[in-house]
This record gives sequence, C-alpha cells and structure tokens, in this order.
Amino acid sequence: MLRRDIITEDIEPQISCSGYCSLCKKEHYLYEGDARRHCVELMKTLERKQRIDLMSPNDEADPRFSTDYLFGKARGQMFGVMVCEDQDGSKVMLRAFSGQYNGVWEVDGWVAPLLNANEFDLISCDIDKKIKGLGKQIDLLDKSSSKRLQLIKERRALSKRLMKDIHSLYQLNNFKQDTGSLFEAFYNDNGIPTGTGDCCAPKLLNYAAQNNLTPLSVAEFYYGRENRSGTRLHGQFYPSCEEKCQPILGFMLCGLDW
Ligand SMILES: [Zn+2]
Ligand SMILES: [Zn+2]
Repeated sequence: MLRRDIITEDIEPQISCSGYCSLCKKEHYLYEGDARRHCVELMKTLERKQRIDLMSPNDEADPRFSTDYLFGKARGQMFGVMVCEDQDGSKVMLRAFSGQYNGVWEVDGWVAPLLNANEFDLISCDIDKKIKGLGKQIDLLDKSSSKRLQLIKERRALSKRLMKDIHSLYQLNNFKQDTGSLFEAFYNDNGIPTGTGDCCAPKLLNYAAQNNLTPLSVAEFYYGRENRSGTRLHGQFYPSCEEKCQPILGFMLCGLDW
C-alpha cells in the first residue's frame, strides 16, 4: 500500500501555472513537466557562471548582471523556464527572470517584458521626480499643518496615477491571437497589484504567443537570498503566484488545447 502511494505521487504531474478563464468558464493550466529539469540545469549554469548575461563571452561580462546582486540587499528573485514546440514540431526552451534585473528590463537570452521599457522609463521618471519633490516638501512642514496634509493627498494621487499609467503599458497576448490590457485580462475585483505581469510565467507565455510557439511545460524557481517574509527560498520551485499571476493566467493560457 505504502509503496503504491509513493509511486502514484511520483508520476502525479504537477500543475505549475493556472488561472480561471472568464470566457471559457473554466481553469486553464500547464504542467511543470520537462521544464523542471531545465530549471535545474539553469541553476547549475548560474552557479558556474555567476552571472545572467549567458550570451556574452566571459571577457565581455557586464558587472550589472552578476548573480552577487541576488545575494545582497536586493535579495533573490524568480527565474523560469518554458518548454515549447515550434511550428515544425521542434522543442524550444525559453528563459525568463521576474521583473527587472538590477534595474534592467531586457537582457540578451531572456524573454522581454510585457511592456515597452522606454515608455516605462519615460512615464516613471517624470512622475517619480514629482513624487520625490513632494516628499521633500512634506518632510519640511510641521506635522499639524494643513498644507502638509494637502501635499500628502497630492502625493497619494500621483502614485495612484503612476501605477495606472504603468499598468496601461502592458500588452497581453494569448493563444487565441487575442491581445488585451491588464485591465481587460485581470480576473479579480481586488484591484491590480504592483508588478502584475512581471513574473516569469506571464513573460514566457506572452513571448510564446507572439512567436507561434506552443507551450508544453513551465517551471519557476527562486534564486538568491531568501525574501524578507521567508516565503521564497534559494533553489526552491514555486507555482505561479496567486495574487498577481493567477488572475491574468486564465486569459493568457486561453487557446491552448488542454
Ligand atoms: Zn506571479
Ligand atoms: Zn479560455
């Protein structure tokens, strides 16, 4: 009995990426499958090379892309691998890191973000300056002054606008050849959290959809110093996150046959 249980657990495929699709009225999902093995290989490569600009020869390595960054103040981040099939039936492997890497959106050999990085810089730089300027004024004013309260309100409104402007930059593609904004794709009434669309699974799916690749499996692991809350540990695998990813994955996975 015990032996049978162990074997069953071994062959039980792990769902690594899923979300409810409001159009099909059902859950779409992908398994971890082969992608997990490729993640283990990727971890070994990162350990050996100590950097993520894997396409550059050693003597052209960019110090910004050293993996030291992941073990310092910034702490670690998620990495993901997706195995796809192209139109000739050949296997293709895609790699992604979550968010930016040391302030950089695009690194050769890794899939691109769901937004235009230049547009992001333009929008955020401008409003960031204003927000920081307000912060300085607020610090100088007396705690009880009405001017201070007014500036705090102003700053809050600006941050909210910035977030909305940033969210509007994201373009999500799926396997029905549909394109949607975050506002259209997000299936949840709780509001769109900061960083939605920046995790590995959405980046990988978006790239696959744009390039006529059919995803077969996907896996994501955390690499670097554990996060502050201790919920992400170096070298561990995690399914797509509940708060940011699952609400958009129903839309993004739509059109895949299973
Ligand atoms: Zn996520
Ligand atoms: Zn669907």
